[in-house]
Amino acid sequence: MSNQNTGSAPYVLPPLPYADNALDPVISANTLGFHYGKHHKTYVDNLNKLVAGTDLADLSLEEIITSTAGKADKVGIFNNAAQVWNHTFYWNSLSPKGGGEPPASLKQKIETAFGSVEVCKKELATAATTQFGSGWAWLVNDGDKLQVIKTGNADLPLTKGMKPLLTIDVWEHAYYLDYQNRRADYVNAVLDKLINWGFAADNDK
Ligand code: MN
Repeated sequence: MSNQNTGSAPYVLPPLPYADNALDPVISANTLGFHYGKHHKTYVDNLNKLVAGTDLADLSLEEIITSTAGKADKVGIFNNAAQVWNHTFYWNSLSPKGGGEPPASLKQKIETAFGSVEVCKKELATAATTQFGSGWAWLVNDGDKLQVIKTGNADLPLTKGMKPLLTIDVWEHAYYLDYQNRRADYVNAVLDKLINWGFAADNDK
């Protein structure tokens, strides 16, 4: 599932994997409506405009991301392509039936890496709340060792050769309508009620 949205331009906004009120009350339909319907859609629209008529239009989304990462003259394309990818991955990292315990195989790897699921969640919460400004917190598999990382703005584990398992969006637009400045409350509610361990386990296969 981390190999998502492949295929060349025009890139499409994938449907949400649940109804827009399915994550309420942790994430309201109002937040989801703006976040998916405006923010995510705008990244898709901008990417299509930026790559139209260029060689990049023939590439998959992942190929655009890896071929533009770190290139000063391609920052706009990288940012929009990465944000398209990140948001699709984020929607799938959440589930109306999320929270609880990870599947057994993933749970064992989490215990090996962190000691317990609780410590892993705490590290994710710390990464999410200490990311200064906009960005993302991630559980990744790096050379078959699980770890938690944070990235700024649109950056993502694909540029670091790491395999992402799940993510939490900590841009203000992800929580401000529901939580205002209380990012920690949003992050802890997501980790307790929505985080999709099954998706993370599938990505680790
Ligand atoms: Mn976002």
